[in-house]
Amino acid sequence: MGSFSHILAGFSLGFHHRRDLRQLLDDTQPNSNILELDPGALFSSGVTVLALDFDGVLAGHGAAVPLPEAVAWMKRSEAFFGGDKIFILSNKPTNGRRQWFAENFPAMRFISGVRKKPYPDGLKKTGELAGVPLSSIMMVDDRLLTGCLAALVAGARPCYIRRPYVLFSHRPLAELFFWLLRAGERTFVRMVSSF
Ligand SMILES: [Mg+2]
Repeated sequence: MGSFSHILAGFSLGFHHRRDLRQLLDDTQPNSNILELDPGALFSSGVTVLALDFDGVLAGHGAAVPLPEAVAWMKRSEAFFGGDKIFILSNKPTNGRRQWFAENFPAMRFISGVRKKPYPDGLKKTGELAGVPLSSIMMVDDRLLTGCLAALVAGARPCYIRRPYVLFSHRPLAELFFWLLRAGERTFVRMVSSF
């Protein structure tokens, strides 16, 4: 039950927030990925906390550790925000990932033990732990109907990663599945936003 309810919630909450999702989709450059995000500019715009998705945003799907260029970006972000203001909000907070962060970015925290995105629980917990209003938290995610939607539901800021990291050579079937899923989400949002 618990493993699928967040998917159904993606469609029902997604329909409810369809216009904001459409706006987000229309406003996002097709080639946007994490390296296009300027941590200093985000900080200047009033973002005080970053909530980062893992799969697709920091590495290809199912990868154990972030890609080197994502690590470099996180180091730049840590300099602006402080590591204690950066959270990993993944629906797959595995022990391996947790351990990698404990060793490389000990101040950054994993959010776990909450209902999966698009439920707003993880972002609410982020706000409580960081002691900031939800409106100053930016959720960076490559999925419209999970992370970006969670941000809209919670009253946080969504940042849609339109060109996620994919490693077809590494896990071809999983990557193909998620590639189709992301495209399907965009189709869903475009279809329902006119209702
Ligand atoms: Mg993802």
